[in-house]
Amino acid sequence: MLEGYVLRCLSCGATYKPDPWLMRCPSCKGLLEPKLNDVEVSWEDFRGRKFGVWRYRELLPRVRYQVTMGEGGTPLIELKSNLFVKFEGANPTGSFKDRGMSVAISVAKEIGVKSVICASTGNTAASMSAYAARAGLKSFIVLPKGKVAKGKLAQASLHGATVVEISGSFDEALEAVIEASGKELGLYPLNSFNPWRLEGQKTLAYEISDELGVPDWVILPVGNAGNISALWKGFKELKSLGLIDRLPRLVGVQARGASPIVRAFREGRMEFFERPETVATAIRIGKPVNWPKALLALEESNGIATDVSDQEILEAQMMLGRMGIGVEPASAAPYAAYLNLLGREIGEDERVVLIATGHALKDPDIIPTPRPIEASSVEEAVEEIRRVIGRG
Ligand SMILES: *Cc1c(COP(=O)(O)O)cnc(C)c1O
Ligand SMILES: [Zn+2]
Repeated sequence: MLEGYVLRCLSCGATYKPDPWLMRCPSCKGLLEPKLNDVEVSWEDFRGRKFGVWRYRELLPRVRYQVTMGEGGTPLIELKSNLFVKFEGANPTGSFKDRGMSVAISVAKEIGVKSVICASTGNTAASMSAYAARAGLKSFIVLPKGKVAKGKLAQASLHGATVVEISGSFDEALEAVIEASGKELGLYPLNSFNPWRLEGQKTLAYEISDELGVPDWVILPVGNAGNISALWKGFKELKSLGLIDRLPRLVGVQARGASPIVRAFREGRMEFFERPETVATAIRIGKPVNWPKALLALEESNGIATDVSDQEILEAQMMLGRMGIGVEPASAAPYAAYLNLLGREIGEDERVVLIATGHALKDPDIIPTPRPIEASSVEEAVEEIRRVIGRG
């Protein structure tokens, strides 16, 4: 299933035969990256198939059964000339996490795993529990108590996950998952240190290149930093396969109260946030597990790491909403960053793609409740509507 790949340690460079259970370098504990042998592929081969993750199956693990619900193939919406939103809220469970889960749960299913586990700020849990349910696997999720948005919790419950709430942040939840998971119990971990999840997520880069060509900039929110690593891997692979001839620059955006990668990018030294805090709960992470991959992606792409305030995030969410695009707070961070960078680092004539990572309905509580006009009768309702229209 994993033929065509070798696993390479990002820290010491050692290489290993791929094993779905191997997620850290046995000799130095570094992050592992699957390296794909070059294969013969063309856009024409891909384009004969349905738009989505599995269109690019030659560049993914060769599984016998795909656990799929049509993930990927999301709309690329033109906000204005040169500005596009890749709307990942259109995935089956409402976030980009479905790309990775489809691939990693297909791998888990193929090796005969019976149960899966993840720590989550919400969307990984929603996605994993749905895909596990499709595959007939049991799911266990560990969440930071009181810090998961309502929509995401509802999804995990709907799809039948066993939920453990931990007093602490996502980072403690992740420690618990690393401790609890393992081959002995047949309990397969699906956080983003699992490289097969990132293999699914890299298709975001494939789809953008497939539909639009290579933009000048791609801007995305960064939490545990799996997605920025996956995106960059995707673009680099296309270039080495000769399918694109240049690379975009990346902007990694964090919320100011949870911005260890921005600080490390500026100061050249990683220091974690012990108590991350932000309204954008999806990126409320102080110890991003993929930080070495993320810093490499930012450096190699000649990119930028930047932070935005909670207020800027909520304003950007509302502005996108008024343009018809409904995203959760974390997913509005790229637009907030874009507004800050436009006319400085980013030129007006440059082509930009914002990754809208998750759907607005994920976190309904953060959206201000409307103040309705009260009407006690049909006549009064009609009268009020006419009055408002009349105001122009
Ligand atoms: C998971 C998630 C992120 C952060 O992605 P990482 O891979 O952890 O950096 C951002 N936005 C949303 C909506 C998410 O669900
Ligand atoms: Zn190593």
